Amino acid sequence: MVIVMQEGVSEETVAHVVAVLRGDGFEAHRSDGKSRTVIGAVGVNVEVDPRKYQLLPGVHEVVRITEPYKLAGRKFQQEDTVVRLGDVAIGGPEVVLMAGPCTIESLEQVETLAPLVKAAGAKIMRGGAFKPRTSPYSFQGMGKEGLQIIRRAADKNGLKVVTEVMDASQIELVSEYADILQIGARNMQNYTFLKALGQTRKPILLKRGMSATIQELLLSAEYILAGGNRDVILCERGIRTFENFTRNTLDISAIPVLKSLSHLPVVADPSHGTGIRDKVPPMARASVAAGADGLLIEVHHDPDRALCDGAQSLLPDQLKALTKDLKTIAAVLGRTFA
Ligand code: PEP
Ligand code: MN
Repeated sequence: MVIVMQEGVSEETVAHVVAVLRGDGFEAHRSDGKSRTVIGAVGVNVEVDPRKYQLLPGVHEVVRITEPYKLAGRKFQQEDTVVRLGDVAIGGPEVVLMAGPCTIESLEQVETLAPLVKAAGAKIMRGGAFKPRTSPYSFQGMGKEGLQIIRRAADKNGLKVVTEVMDASQIELVSEYADILQIGARNMQNYTFLKALGQTRKPILLKRGMSATIQELLLSAEYILAGGNRDVILCERGIRTFENFTRNTLDISAIPVLKSLSHLPVVADPSHGTGIRDKVPPMARASVAAGADGLLIEVHHDPDRALCDGAQSLLPDQLKALTKDLKTIAAVLGRTFA
């Protein structure tokens, strides 16, 4: 942290700031310029709240120069984290497709969709058995039966499974059936839950909260990493803005920003990011072009009758057509797809 003093402050004012910093465990290095004094504060494992120093008499500006997250950052680990699930690697040269329905509705639905998403190039099947619905009267998911259905269909088709866990009490059950535990946007800042996920050894797909900053997403990942679970995949799924044509605003720029700040894999969810079926393919293409390591896409063979998110679900043929484009885009970036 660097503290820039106001012009012309007295020696006592500077000495007071230095004393406060030292009292808080920092080493303080001052440098006296012609008109201003600048104090460099160096602290290892010192909690920093820049506002505290901003309020001290004579302080002009406080500039934080280190990130509040450590394990999630590139400073801690320069090389990319690759999350491995058998022969599927997320965060490596291959762009990985995760596709399936928003929610598991029936055996027939999942068994119809599994071979279709596989044929379109998906390596991982998605589908929620526990659904975070805005209304308590909406379909809440099939629970354990849904988990059994998706696991069986995925195994039959050589797919892995990603599915949502809504609270710590479900971790054990969902871990029996899933390869990746999905943490929903609404839970991104549930810190006791994140700590519990840090204790598991299942890969975590952590979705960005709908009003979370990039730094907040990385700090949430930090909770899981700090518990010892190093397999965290970040997911940009759209944020809430003043725009209401689309359901959310898919923050494509978050993809390259996250990739530069963090070594963790980044995937994009253009389904929740737009909420509109015909807007999903262009945003999926843009996400891969922006450097996403994977895509999470909702698909339904009969979206008009879907119990959840039919309007943003692609038809299987649309997914197949999209993956052709994604292959071409990935190749431009020196990557592979499907
Ligand atoms: C989902 O993936 O179906 C879902 C509920 O996503 P989110 O948490 O991003 O809203
Ligand atoms: Mn959904």
